[in-house]
Amino acid sequence: MTTQTTSPALDVLRRVFGYDAFRGEQAAIIDTVVGGGDALVLMPTGGGKSLCYQIPALVREGTGVVVSPLIALMQDQVDALAALGVRAAFLNSTLTSDERRAVERALVAGELDLLYLAPEGLRSRATLDLLDRATIALFAIDEAHCVSQWGHDFRPDYLELSMLHERWPAVPRIALTATATAATRAEIAHRLDLEGARHFVSSFDRPNITYRIVPKDRPEKQLLDLLRTEHGHAEHGHAEHGHADHKDVGGRGDAGIVYCLSRASVEKTAAMLVANGIEALPYHAGLPASVRAANQARFLREDGVVMVATIAFGMGIDKPDVRFVAHLDLPKSVEGYYQETGRAGRDGLPSTAWLAYGLADVVQQRKLIETSDGDAAHRRNLGMHLNAMLALCETVECRRAQLLAYFGQTLAERCGNCDTCTAPPEAWDGTIAAQKVLSTVLRLAREKGQSFGVGQVVDILLGRDTEKVRRFGHHELSVFGVGTDLAEPEWRAVVRQLLAQGLLTVEGVHGTLVLTEASGEVLARRREVRMRHEPVRPVRAAKARKA
Ligand code: ADP
Ligand code: ZN
Repeated sequence: MTTQTTSPALDVLRRVFGYDAFRGEQAAIIDTVVGGGDALVLMPTGGGKSLCYQIPALVREGTGVVVSPLIALMQDQVDALAALGVRAAFLNSTLTSDERRAVERALVAGELDLLYLAPEGLRSRATLDLLDRATIALFAIDEAHCVSQWGHDFRPDYLELSMLHERWPAVPRIALTATATAATRAEIAHRLDLEGARHFVSSFDRPNITYRIVPKDRPEKQLLDLLRTEHGHAEHGHAEHGHADHKDVGGRGDAGIVYCLSRASVEKTAAMLVANGIEALPYHAGLPASVRAANQARFLREDGVVMVATIAFGMGIDKPDVRFVAHLDLPKSVEGYYQETGRAGRDGLPSTAWLAYGLADVVQQRKLIETSDGDAAHRRNLGMHLNAMLALCETVECRRAQLLAYFGQTLAERCGNCDTCTAPPEAWDGTIAAQKVLSTVLRLAREKGQSFGVGQVVDILLGRDTEKVRRFGHHELSVFGVGTDLAEPEWRAVVRQLLAQGLLTVEGVHGTLVLTEASGEVLARRREVRMRHEPVRPVRAAKARKA
């Protein structure tokens, strides 16, 4: 433990920001940058990254230049700093030429503590010349994972940022991100020329978030249940009966975010919630900028608003009391899942990360990868990201432990605060079931020019006498009716887990099921397949906790 006596940094923390003490690694990071050293900071969302560059900018002579891709948030950030008496400004494409000139003048006159810049701004000679005429305290590169070409937020302009070091070798740099595996961290250090920087890696654990991943059944009803039974969104007209002891009687329930994959499902889900009396707003890139801004402002300022959004929503949003993040579709990667769920519970109070996931998600995501642009290496990379996400969904181990392991961190024991900890799923030997599915797929694959999806496979296994079965003579296959020991939902779960385990894959726009190299080992009885039993009912851990 370091003792915090008085230092200029601590003095600024107390006097300007009104906080008593640094959190986690903030003190060490700030010391490094104040002393002129470079730093690479990995800290989860809500960890307190902003102070890590704001305080050094105030302590060091000159202006701290912050490179951020979040143009939409710059005004808010500058306003918040101004309210604390910090002299901050931004330069981006939204300014008029008069406004721009005023900021430039203040910068050169040494009247700014912090200047926010969009990365594309640094491409212009004029901006570089302007910075040459100013005294620069430090460069902060926010959302530094945007430099990673394999990540989901890649911004080509970030690749140019290594020139900061060449042009201003004496100015310390601090790169910050909430998203990074060891590989991404290495890529950031390499591309931003930060190999000599001190690395600060905080724990990525968010102990106040309960992780739950449930089988998708009737997603809209499942979501509504979650909001009603665990997050206080009472049914209209019922509030006075039976719910009298609920804290939110007459008021709204908890604030939260519902993520959907497509704009259409955002619209549909938001409308469904509104029709059920819940204060829900849509957010996606297809809405006019003014509507997006208005919806975001209401979400931030009002209590109990549910934002239904694509992943276009959320980066840089600082709303401390988001009580739940619900995913109605499978995220493409563990990084994405972690970042999106990380928007819950920034105030440290109990919060829920809930994901409904089903067979159709796997088929859809595999299809998206299969038909995506880019070369084979790119598709392989997307496939690996998806596989890690699927492994998290299908695990029988502690979800938190698996999530942290993905970021190279270990948890000493099971967390006790995720669905697999509170209701451990049983594993069963699914080898025979897997063989039945795989040999059906093998037989269907022999029919040249035809493609069959999950539905046909299940119909054959269950021995259903459908028109399509008749038409293709599938009732004459040896596998017809060999699967009556399981019901349809169980077969779909088997197929889903085979897809997740890479023992099956899908091809083409129709999502045709095809075997993989590993399938052969199962068919040849050289490999066992472990499967997870679905819980009968979604776990209600949070409800028990609240009671
Ligand atoms: P991040 O950028 O890492 O997501 P922020 O910098 O937005 O996180 O900080 C998250 C919240 O924590 C903010 O409301 C911030 O004011 C608060 N915070 C940061 N550092 C401290 C501290 N040392 N003491 C108290 N609150 C802090
Ligand atoms: Zn756990």
